Amino acid sequence: MSERPIIGVVPLWDSEKSSLWMLPGYMDGLIEAGAVPVMLPMASDDSAMRSIIDRLDGFLLTGGQDVSYLLYGEPRHEKCGEICDMRDKMELALAKRALEADKPLFGICRGLQFLNVFCGGTLYQDLPSEFDSSIGHDMVAPYDRAVHSVELNSYLAKLLGADKLEVNSLHHQGIKALAPSLEACAKASDGLIEAVRAPGCNFVVAVQWHPEFALEWDSSKKLFLAFVKACSQ
Ligand code: MN
Repeated sequence: MSERPIIGVVPLWDSEKSSLWMLPGYMDGLIEAGAVPVMLPMASDDSAMRSIIDRLDGFLLTGGQDVSYLLYGEPRHEKCGEICDMRDKMELALAKRALEADKPLFGICRGLQFLNVFCGGTLYQDLPSEFDSSIGHDMVAPYDRAVHSVELNSYLAKLLGADKLEVNSLHHQGIKALAPSLEACAKASDGLIEAVRAPGCNFVVAVQWHPEFALEWDSSKKLFLAFVKACSQ
């Protein structure tokens, strides 16, 4: 394809302002990798999603509110954060059609958590109280600092040219039961899964860390480039 791929980016929702918004890092990472990002509407009906998805080349599942515990059939943990039903509905419709059509998906933070839930996995609703770890997964700004390492499996090691990576970390939820159709691609030293992919798809990859806050990192550039390359095929 000689034209630049167009990638749909899931909008963020500010419940206090009742406003859709966007972090520039998601857009800039995609632009720097050669794509044209467009912010998607918060639509969830199947025909709208089909029209959007069939015309775009790939989709970025962004960070945001906690994925609803109802989607994996568990009661609410007292420290579960804010839920955004609109986003859950929108991403359910998006993921359903995008995976049917084998369109590339790249998930970041909530994007990884959502993908795991969509594929049948479960989440820790509050890592500090549910997961025994000496790692602080919930860092404070500035976010372009590495705070823990992850060990990569052969797929991600090949993609990033290293078998270990230093990453930032800004999440209070995480994967509890990995979905059967996903493969763990990175783990922190406490055992927490920090990246996944769906083998057999063109490109369905998600990371728990935040390349959009560290666009100058070699690993961030490589992730965005690999995603955009998959969207160009
Ligand atoms: Mn982490």
